[in-house]
Parts: sequence; structure tokens; C-alpha cells
Amino acid sequence: MKKLFLFVFCLTTLNQVFSQTLIGCALQGTAAGQYTVYQSSDNSEIDRATNEELRFLAQSFLVTPTFFYYDDSRGMNAFSTPENLAGSQSQFGTICFGLNLIKEQISLSTNGTNVPIILAHEFAHTVARRYGLNLPTKQNELFADYLAGGYMFYRARNFKTTDVQAAFQSFYNMGDNDFTNPNHHGTPASRSACIRQGYNDCLNAMQQGKVFTLDEGVRMGVNFVTSHNFD
Ligand SMILES: [Zn+2]
Repeated sequence: MKKLFLFVFCLTTLNQVFSQTLIGCALQGTAAGQYTVYQSSDNSEIDRATNEELRFLAQSFLVTPTFFYYDDSRGMNAFSTPENLAGSQSQFGTICFGLNLIKEQISLSTNGTNVPIILAHEFAHTVARRYGLNLPTKQNELFADYLAGGYMFYRARNFKTTDVQAAFQSFYNMGDNDFTNPNHHGTPASRSACIRQGYNDCLNAMQQGKVFTLDEGVRMGVNFVTSHNFD
């Protein structure tokens, strides 16, 4: 029985180690080094929910990066990189989500809503590259948070039941306060402000009968994060 399980596991996952310095943004700190990536989380429920989410993310953000789970046992994380990993080919690069992080975040949220907001943050980095924004690190992070907030508004409205407050709280808990770190993502308060602004801008627009295009969302996000002095 055990052998059969292992055999199936090998068939359904792509198990490949890659070693390179990633230019992409990580959810927390940097993502560099050697990782093992997988096409499956080895949990059919997680795979199904993630694949549905990836389709709605692609519709929302108009980019289709390759997605992998990866072994984040050395530090829970998720990241977006312009590089094509493990032989994948996408003009939008790759997004990787740590297996430990996804399982932790699912356990912390009643309906898994913490995972979509992280995925949306990573997709927003892919969008930022596509638009050639080249914002400084902190502003780039806060811009991704802004777009993630907007995504959560449209997700709740057009896709699935969304525990927005729980998702926002999970992000608040991930903000860092390491001011000397060049990879500083913004304090929890700053991240929270940008997520809420993205959400509220979409809500206010909807109340006036308007749905933002991606171009408009990007422009508003850039404007918001560059016109405020965030910690
Ligand atoms: Zn980021």
C-alpha cells in the first residue's frame, strides 16, 4: 500500500530542484537559493481550490504566470519571479507558494481566504513587472498590497464567499517592522492601509456604478503608494 502511494505521488508531482538567485519579490524577505517545486500540493482539495483561484486571478490581472508549490521548510514564503523555473515557459514568469505556508494559512482561516490574498499580492508583482513600474522595494510591496485589496473586493462580489476581514488581518500579521532591512515590505499599519485603500477604492467606484479596468487600478495604486509617506 505504501509503495502504491509513493508511486502515485511521483506520477502526480513534478519534483525538481532549481538553484538560482531569484530577482522576484517574496512575500516576506527574499527568496533565493535552492528549492524543490511541485505541480501538486498532494492534497486534491487544495489543488482544486488553488486552480480555481488561479483562473480568477488570471482573469482579473490579465497575466498567466506558471504556478508551482514549493518546499518552504526553510522558511514559509511565497514569491513571484520573472524567471521561468523548472523548465516552465511563460512570458509572465513564475509564482511559487510554499507548501507549509499554504497549509498554515488554510488552518488560520475559516474558508481559506488567507491564501487568495497572498496569491493576489504575488500576481500584483507580476502585473507591476508587466507594466514596467520599477517602484522602490517598499512602494512595490505596498502597490502589490493595494492591488490585492482591490482583488479581494471583486473576488467577494464575483467569485466566492470571502472573509475579507480575516484576510486583511492575516496580512496585517505578516507586515514587518525591520526598518534597516532593504527588503522592508512596510509596517503592518502601512500594509493594512494600502490593502484597505485598494478595497475601498473599488467599493466606492462600484457604488457609483463603475468597475475599474486593470489599467485604472494600476494607475490608482501607483498614485496612492507614491503620494503617501509610508513607514
Ligand atoms: Zn511582495
